[in-house]
Amino acid sequence: MARVYNFSAGPSMLPEAVLKKAAAELLEYPGSGQSVMEMSHRSPEYQAIIEGAEALLREIMNIPANYKVLFLQGGASTQFAMVPLNLFGIAPKADFVNTGTWSKKAISEAKRYGTARVVATSEDKKFSYIPKVDKSMFDAGAAYVHITTNNTIEGTRYRILPDTGTVPLVADMSSNILSEVYDVTKFGIIYAGAQKNIAPAGVTVVIIREDLLGKALPITPTMLNYKIHADGKSLYNTPPCYCIYIAKLVFELIKQQGGVPAMQKVNEQKAKMLYDFLDNSKMFKGTVVPEDRSLMNIPFTSPAEDTDKAFIKEASAAGFVNLKGHRSVGGMRASIYNAMPVEGVEKLVDFMKKFETKNTK
Ligand code: PMP
Repeated sequence: MARVYNFSAGPSMLPEAVLKKAAAELLEYPGSGQSVMEMSHRSPEYQAIIEGAEALLREIMNIPANYKVLFLQGGASTQFAMVPLNLFGIAPKADFVNTGTWSKKAISEAKRYGTARVVATSEDKKFSYIPKVDKSMFDAGAAYVHITTNNTIEGTRYRILPDTGTVPLVADMSSNILSEVYDVTKFGIIYAGAQKNIAPAGVTVVIIREDLLGKALPITPTMLNYKIHADGKSLYNTPPCYCIYIAKLVFELIKQQGGVPAMQKVNEQKAKMLYDFLDNSKMFKGTVVPEDRSLMNIPFTSPAEDTDKAFIKEASAAGFVNLKGHRSVGGMRASIYNAMPVEGVEKLVDFMKKFETKNTK
């Protein structure tokens, strides 16, 4: 069977070149006589892999020396607890902007350990926009301000980062890390699950400014303490070795292809194709206000649930899979991460045009 165009929100497509390289090295990682899956995480071969992955990520994201890069487990969901556990030692309170399902989870988890104050929300309009915030809205004594830079389910993204003054900005960047250029110095912590733009599910990347280490609440479990992992160079315990190896291959490819600016250019081109079509279609409509539209996750609707169902079924049969919207919002959603080729979006738009013509009397 030919490879399909997979529009899943995650786990999602990986670059074909990476899958091929991993396949070629599956049985024997060059010069080691063994698979990466079988390697000791303390071996010199694996040391080179994990250090190489970190060095490449630092290079492509331009991460300054005063930030640590951690490769952890537990998904972005574990970060919802890890961030407050590690920063509430500064002050047991944080400010949040509520932009959807994942922000809400971060808020409810932080509430277990201190005060989580919602300073702005877009819930009034089904999270179809990013609320405007300014510095005066934030508590200058808060340990951090938390945002979700890209809302995977709702399809919104911040175009302008909030100015939080001296309060560290913490970002869940799970669904748009490496898709557009970010200035890391604007953040105290960036975290991201891997399964969209980095690697298979199983590794979570955390980028943390060094002065935020060592502020954990006394109840923080050892495995959830950033400082333990920073001191252990992500090898305090066995890391998700194979995922980190794939991440290294992805980072290498991004570098070869012109880095994050090149990813951003292609992502803007892909998203524009789909949004332009949606804006001109009589059948399909985007659900997000134009100024806050995501480059990665594009939700859209048709006039009727039956049409949605027929579209999803026919699209799937034609090789465009996982276009069903998240169960909480319905409709459709096309997730077009870095690894989705331009041609995949072109063909999808073409398919949507034909579907519309066929079903319009
Ligand atoms: N945050 C965002 C923005 C996400 O999209 C997701 C997963 N889709 C999560 C957090 C949760 O990630 P995980 O499943 O890795 O815990």
